Amino acid sequence: MDFQDSPEEISFRQECRQWLQDNAPQKQRSDEISGQGLTSAQLLQASREWQGRRAAAGFGAITWPVAFGGRGGTPMQEVIYRQEEGRFNVPPNYFAVSLGMVLPSLFAHASEEVRARYLGPALHGKELWCQLLSEPGAGSDLGMVRTRAECCSDGRDGWILNGQKVWTTLAQFAEFGMVLARTDPTVPKFEGLTSFFIDMKAPGVEVRPIRQANGESEFNEVFFNDVFIPDSQRVGAAGAGWKVTLTALMNERLSIGGVMPPDLWRTAAQIMRSAEFNGGSAMADGRMRERLADLYLNAHGLWLLQCRGLTALGKGKEPGPELSIAKIVGARTLQDFAYFAMDLQGERGVLAAEEVGDTWQLVEKLWFGAAGMRIAGGTDEIVKNNVGERVLGLPSEPRMDKGVPFNQLPR
Ligand SMILES: Cc1cc2nc3c(=O)[nH]c(=O)nc-3n(C[C@H](O)[C@H](O)[C@H](O)COP(=O)(O)OP(=O)(O)OC[C@H]3O[C@@H](n4cnc5c(N)ncnc54)[C@H](O)[C@@H]3O)c2cc1C
Repeated sequence: MDFQDSPEEISFRQECRQWLQDNAPQKQRSDEISGQGLTSAQLLQASREWQGRRAAAGFGAITWPVAFGGRGGTPMQEVIYRQEEGRFNVPPNYFAVSLGMVLPSLFAHASEEVRARYLGPALHGKELWCQLLSEPGAGSDLGMVRTRAECCSDGRDGWILNGQKVWTTLAQFAEFGMVLARTDPTVPKFEGLTSFFIDMKAPGVEVRPIRQANGESEFNEVFFNDVFIPDSQRVGAAGAGWKVTLTALMNERLSIGGVMPPDLWRTAAQIMRSAEFNGGSAMADGRMRERLADLYLNAHGLWLLQCRGLTALGKGKEPGPELSIAKIVGARTLQDFAYFAMDLQGERGVLAAEEVGDTWQLVEKLWFGAAGMRIAGGTDEIVKNNVGERVLGLPSEPRMDKGVPFNQLPR
């Protein structure tokens, strides 16, 4: 394991830091959250502008090929940029799904004309994309997608889309979406799927935001009622939708891997010093210190895992199981931290963050949001299944649907 940057990485890190210093204010505290008090629409606008500036400076999509407007850089450079950007107060990244998951599928599987038209505006923050995969009956088992796309029977060169998606992040703001639909129900479930991209403002597309417990609406239900999709918006061959989707899912897991802010235990220690427990400081109580020690050990273990993954990336290798393990432990630790911090508040825990102080913005955000990190990009159970099967070599789950046509599967 190598903890040091190589000479090239040092010089790239300096380049990133210099550009960030010239273009963004530094964070006052590591747990500072940007854009407090702004509406989602205002945050999106700020995110569009920041993405545009990043792209103009060559930091917009570091690992994308130069031919598509990227920098042609390494995954390690992407990580270095993200580490450096984390020290600055910049708008939240609304383009993570577009650029990190959806568009890589487009440049891997779409035609030259499609790439030429759509990659640039997304890279420069002008067009936002969403990922239309999950449905009420198809989440962990995405092969069960029921949304149908049927060839037009009226002579038009295209498809008619009907069905429903759910949990679609940022669909209410997106200009375009990549949709996975069933085009042939007479073959086994993974073989009858096709990917398309759609204009989210096309007739028949209805987006209904889902109101969350924290008052925000990051996700949506999306309904398709006889939506016409020109065949030129098919991505990959008919029936090859699963292959296209795997490109997006692989990228999704890569980008969700490093979720743990390294300084979180310091925030917990600061909260403990000021919190009261059994008539004294929480820091004076052995059981409370044990919880802080657990948090520190998990954070440190995750940092070492990240170093191992980064060393593999730096040597041009694929990281091993580190990303899966980091996702399971990282998301769980974030949730434990938020619950612990909230418990320390006692009755004051019911107050909103703005009533108790700045540190609580992060606690509140994680208290509501960490559970979602344990679901998005593969639930804890699914990631554990993958580690069991692919890393530990345990027997795979029984598959009763193998080789059975989709329309003969029990409902
Ligand atoms: C923050 C967030 C953002 C998201 N954004 C998007 C998006 O932009 N686009 C999109 O398409 N989707 C999105 N999703 C949806 C996400 O992909 C699904 O929620 C996820 O795949 C799980 O599917 P599900 O909710 O249908 O749960 P289910 O698959 O129904 O799972 C329910 C429970 O059963 C368990 N389970 C299921 N199968 C197994 C098994 N084989 N073995 C053991 N346990 C199992 C699961 O672990 C879980 O605990 C998002 C979700 C979150 C939380």
